[in-house]
Amino acid sequence: MSLFESIDNTVNTRENWALRRRKGIPNNKRLFVLTCMDERIPVEHALGIQLGDAHIYRNAGALVTDDVIRSATLTTNFFGTQEIIILLHTECGMMTTTGEKVVEALRERLTKEGVNFDQVALDPAIPQLKIPKAQLAEWFRTFEDVDDAAVQQVKLLREHPFIPKSVKIHAYIFETESNTLRRPRERLSEQVSTAPKPLQPAR
Ligand SMILES: [Zn+2]
Repeated sequence: MSLFESIDNTVNTRENWALRRRKGIPNNKRLFVLTCMDERIPVEHALGIQLGDAHIYRNAGALVTDDVIRSATLTTNFFGTQEIIILLHTECGMMTTTGEKVVEALRERLTKEGVNFDQVALDPAIPQLKIPKAQLAEWFRTFEDVDDAAVQQVKLLREHPFIPKSVKIHAYIFETESNTLRRPRERLSEQVSTAPKPLQPAR
């Protein structure tokens, strides 16, 4: 390869990187990842991906909220994404409280500060976006079982009309205690022996 060709390649690569979206170039793996904001999840390392490989969305719990729908809709319909991975994790903070408790604590603090809790805009950019008071605890979206929650998030995205049916969606659990991934409801540590079992006669 001549020096000019080599320099041109470098220039083109940089240009394609910088202008990806306007040139309609998808991310390297055509992948959207939804995971928890938890600081213990090494997202790229856990999935074996690198910078440039995926759109990554992190929120409390890795839960399918309206803004996840918004982001997933854009990346799958307009940015060339064909796969979605939802990555929940063990020992998630979203299993340590309930939406009711969160609402109660916020209401108490705001009332003390003289702020009308019921008038607070959930999205200050769209103040007309309102959620009935009764649903606010639900909006915070805590959960009790990480495996059930993972399966449910797949279902929520799968059934959403904005997400094309051709998009593949999978969920995994990141085990914070062992730093590894597993599929929902396939907890290996529950299956391995930790004490001798009585010998069965050979068949
Ligand atoms: Zn979490």
